Amino acid sequence: MSDKLAPYPFCVDDEEQYIAHINEVLAAQFPPLLSCPFCGGEATYTGHVVNAFLVRCTKCGCMTPSYGDELTDRKKSIMQARDTWNRRVGDE
Ligand SMILES: [Zn+2]
Repeated sequence: MSDKLAPYPFCVDDEEQYIAHINEVLAAQFPPLLSCPFCGGEATYTGHVVNAFLVRCTKCGCMTPSYGDELTDRKKSIMQARDTWNRRVGDE
C-alpha cells in the first residue's frame, strides 16, 4: 500500500471512496484516532469540500471543527483535525 495520499478526485461521487482512502493511509502512518470522549465510539476522518477535513464520531456524530479549504495544504488540514480530536483534558 502506498503511504502517499492520492490526489483528490474532482468528482463528488468519489468523495466517499476518497475518505476511505484517507482513513486507510493515515491509519497506517500515524497514531490512531482516539475513541470518542463522549460515547466511546469509533472516530473517522471525513470531509465536505475539497481539502477541508474534520474528525467525526461514527456513533454519536460529534465532530471537530472543519480545517482547511481549497487553498490550504490537505495533509496539514487533516493533521489539524486529528490533533484537535485527540486532545484530551490534561494535555498541554
Ligand atoms: Zn461519540
